[in-house]
Amino acid sequence: MGTPVNRCVVSWREMSFPIKICVVCEEEFELRPDKPGFANRCPKCSAPEEDESASNARMDADALKNVREANAARRQAIKDLLYSHK
Ligand SMILES: [Zn+2]
Repeated sequence: MGTPVNRCVVSWREMSFPIKICVVCEEEFELRPDKPGFANRCPKCSAPEEDESASNARMDADALKNVREANAARRQAIKDLLYSHK
């Protein structure tokens, strides 16, 4: 008759997803293939937090503006240098 119990256990294990511990909240979660976000974070901690993303976006915009201004200033300085050399 074989070992139907073993086969059942194997098929159950194949059906289930690996259990991982979230690195953020240390809660167990199923690592599903279609789970969005990080593989070592639970779905809750993978979802972007509104406050964080909002402040990040604002900081990014400010940083981008600073970089743009710095680049423009550097380009202007290089232009001046080239023209003064001629
Ligand atoms: Zn978590």
